[in-house]
Amino acid sequence: MFRLILMVAVLVGSLWGAAAPKKIPVLCYHRFGVEVSDSMTIKNTAFAEQMEWLKTHGYSVIPLDMAMGYLSGKVKTIPAKSVVITVDDGHKSVYSDMAPIVKKYKIPVTLFIYPSAISNAKYAMNWEQLRELETTKLFRVESHTYWHPNFKKEKKTLTSEEYAKSVDKQLNGSKKKLEEKTGHEIKYLAWVFGIYDDALLVDAKKAGYAAAFTIDRKHASSGDNTMALGRYMVVSKHTIKDFERMVDGSEDRMPKDKKEVVKY
Ligand SMILES: [Zn+2]
Repeated sequence: MFRLILMVAVLVGSLWGAAAPKKIPVLCYHRFGVEVSDSMTIKNTAFAEQMEWLKTHGYSVIPLDMAMGYLSGKVKTIPAKSVVITVDDGHKSVYSDMAPIVKKYKIPVTLFIYPSAISNAKYAMNWEQLRELETTKLFRVESHTYWHPNFKKEKKTLTSEEYAKSVDKQLNGSKKKLEEKTGHEIKYLAWVFGIYDDALLVDAKKAGYAAAFTIDRKHASSGDNTMALGRYMVVSKHTIKDFERMVDGSEDRMPKDKKEVVKY
């Protein structure tokens, strides 16, 4: 009898394991500042408060690569309360405002960069600053396409040949350029404006990305398409209570019609 119960327990356990996808919250930031200048700029004090909250509530910020290894089954265990932090666009304030807080809390951060802006656009960091951040081993550069295009618009306005060429440049070209500049493999991609479609997901896989990220507000899950994993965009209107709901999964569990909308 005992053996039968044990067998049933093992069977149910393995079925449960197979049925329940592994999930990790991935946060997406943009800009930082002493004051809030627009909705996508987070006050430095608010960001520090969020990092302090994670620390005091037993969360571990883990590298994106470790999180993806866990979802794919390559990494067997990660801390029970794990969070991933990513920042899109390579804004100057990552270097001036965010980095001191990142160094204080010693947290790993992924920077999704589009190379056309670096050492070029007024608002962006330069290659030396990116290199300096990577030297700390806390920051890691990944791809955010080549020049931040709106694929939805491009698909409508360009000929199919022009569009295919652009997609190639944005996915393959960016990967190649960033690999040249950083000297390491570029494995991950963040979709620009969160825009993607079925064809783009196939293209990203073909370009050699191991995973790609949207701004669909949900945990990155082993049950989802690896080329369209969710992220929570954190913007200035979010309170610490909102932040808590992102990382503890309660926002993810909300019914669709009640879900929060964050405009880009
Ligand atoms: Zn962006």
